[in-house]
Amino acid sequence: MFKRVLIANRGEIAVRIIRACRELGIETVAVYSTADSESIHTKISDKKICIGPPQVSKSYLNIANIISAAKITGSDAIHPGYGFLAENSLFAKECGKNEIVFIGPGYNLMDIAGNKSKAIALMKENKIPVIPGHEKRLDDLRYTVKIAKKIGYPVIIKASFGGGGKGMRIASDDNDLKTLLPLARSEAKNAFGNDHVYIEKYIKNPRHIEFQIIADNYGNIFSPGFRECSIQRRHQKVIEEAPAINISRKTIELMETTVLKASRILKYQNLGTFEFLLDSNENFYFIEINTRLQVEHPVTEMTTGIDIVKEQIKISSGNDILDLKKNFLSSTKNSKGQNANGHAIEFRINAEDPENDFSPSPGKIDYVHIPGGPGIRFDTFIETGSNILPYYDSLIGKLIVWGRDRKESLDKSLSALKEFKIDGIKTTIPFHLKILGNKNFNEGNFSTSFIEDENML
Ligand code: ADP
Repeated sequence: MFKRVLIANRGEIAVRIIRACRELGIETVAVYSTADSESIHTKISDKKICIGPPQVSKSYLNIANIISAAKITGSDAIHPGYGFLAENSLFAKECGKNEIVFIGPGYNLMDIAGNKSKAIALMKENKIPVIPGHEKRLDDLRYTVKIAKKIGYPVIIKASFGGGGKGMRIASDDNDLKTLLPLARSEAKNAFGNDHVYIEKYIKNPRHIEFQIIADNYGNIFSPGFRECSIQRRHQKVIEEAPAINISRKTIELMETTVLKASRILKYQNLGTFEFLLDSNENFYFIEINTRLQVEHPVTEMTTGIDIVKEQIKISSGNDILDLKKNFLSSTKNSKGQNANGHAIEFRINAEDPENDFSPSPGKIDYVHIPGGPGIRFDTFIETGSNILPYYDSLIGKLIVWGRDRKESLDKSLSALKEFKIDGIKTTIPFHLKILGNKNFNEGNFSTSFIEDENML
């Protein structure tokens, strides 16, 4: 097992990883920017080290400074969390060069997954269903129009190296495409440093369903479950659940078999998430692989009892998953034959003003009251007096609510969100309450366009 792990992140996920390390008897090193010197992750770690000024490019994305910090502190591994450098294969490579274990899959796998068109091409080659489209690089406008006509409008233009729901454009006809293609390419160049874009059929009202996988370094692999992530705003997840409801057992089993087949083809190691769109006829299409811990991993933890972060660290230090897999597969199945206990829902609480187009709402938290009780978990880094900084992501915490069934977790969620108090800044709590008041949401009757369709904004 590792002696000391450096956490190359901040916020709630840094806190989450420090706790997992501590439970495993591993010392932790927090890194922080000068703006984050008072943040909780720096207070609960064994060591802390400043890696630069507030701007992310000079601190949390500064590979040289982070590697130096790991060497100075004698860390034998780095956990990247999610975001920042978590999917940066160059960073993983640098860790390797410096004999530091990067907690995640190898950089070859990261290279494939990080380039969505490459991943789609590989899946297509192996008969994994993908969305009808053209994953190759598109430069020529006339050629693109020809392809789009063949696919059939509407089409969606996506950045190969994109993420976080950014840079996607929907074209309904030739004219749209002609205007949007150059725009999408320059946006992709600015946001992701590469103007490679591709197009695929825009699926109307799909659901976003994803499968978590856990794999060790010896070829053992299993999926501890799947998640529903259809409640999205601007293609970004807002609420996630496990397990997804209203999908036939047959489709779920077929999706799982597909995921395991794809993982074996990729010789997958460590944690991964395979994301799919599911249409109203239960056709499913691969969209991407995330080679890291997901923001929404806790809903799987709450319904399986598996501590995904601890298992990830154990795998990276060379443990196998034989017992974990055996215990999981022999655990009690629910009425649908899934190894899942009850139902969990996660609400992303952001420092944003839902009344003002979700504009960021940084500032001092004058008072916070966090709800509690059986099945209520809040992964966070905030406390009364915390300062929410304008430089970073607006996620201030994740409320995760477990119930014996979806109805119970919805009832508990309503109670918990009503009890929540965060004074001093605006948050997305009122927005979640609005969603919880919606009949279709409560009945599990929704798609990725739920927020627009139901006039939630
Ligand atoms: P990112 O990596 O930026 O998050 P994804 O490819 O994972 O991008 O897609 C994010 C979301 O965008 C999906 O969950 C879905 O809501 C929407 N989306 C992506 N591709 C399509 C498509 N072809 N048709 C309809 N919606 C799509």
